[in-house]
Amino acid sequence: HITVGVLALQGGVVEHLNLLRKAAAHILSSPPPPESKAEDLPEFTFTEVRTPQQLAQCDALIIPGGESTTMAIVAQRLGLLEPLREFVKVQHKPVWGTCAGLVMLAEQVSATKQGGQELVGGLDVRVLRNKFGTQLQSFVAGLELGFLEKGGEAEPFRAVFIRAPVVEEVNIATQREEKGNGPVEVLGVYQQGQGKEGNKDIVAVRQGNVFGTSFHPELTDDARIHVWWLRQVVDAVRHGGLVINGA
Ligand code: GLN
Repeated sequence: HITVGVLALQGGVVEHLNLLRKAAAHILSSPPPPESKAEDLPEFTFTEVRTPQQLAQCDALIIPGGESTTMAIVAQRLGLLEPLREFVKVQHKPVWGTCAGLVMLAEQVSATKQGGQELVGGLDVRVLRNKFGTQLQSFVAGLELGFLEKGGEAEPFRAVFIRAPVVEEVNIATQREEKGNGPVEVLGVYQQGQGKEGNKDIVAVRQGNVFGTSFHPELTDDARIHVWWLRQVVDAVRHGGLVINGA
């Protein structure tokens, strides 16, 4: 039995729960991939997380989009910040942050006028918030995500960017006390403009058990990333280790 939580302090909670259910239905109805060691099909529970007790029930967690300073303030008030850090960095459970969730999972955020904000950390990256401007400058872009391709052409993923952060630098070598997660892998890049002129931004990264995307797969009905992530969760729970290369 596998319990996946969605941090439900603020932001796009229901959307993630819906896509997780869709992804689970897909996994349960498709033949297991050849490399999978899974003997039988998992049972899933998807649940909202607002307390340390609820977090403790979870095998994996999604931190949704929303507003990362607000989320951090609420998490701190509810006594969730330290348990979240434990979950990610000590227990090494699979965690995925989308947009504000990616900000929360970064070890560093570029200095902003407003000053510092509490983070959960776990991804050895520095992010820049609100890279593309205001809410009105939201956009959808087709991304080539190599990790979604399984021996064939995959449709570009229609990625929704809303006041999205980008990863400015990877492997910033902060003093992470825990070992074994390896370097940060860049899994997705968004290029504005053509050719060499084009500005490339890192919009998807993974480091061991921690995965982050700048965009919001939960605001589409494309469950491919949820399916991909959930399969890694299943492997991590069954084989009790880090997801080093679940692609
Ligand atoms: N701009 C928000 C932040 O920095 C994130 C926006 C989002 O999650 N859509 O927290």
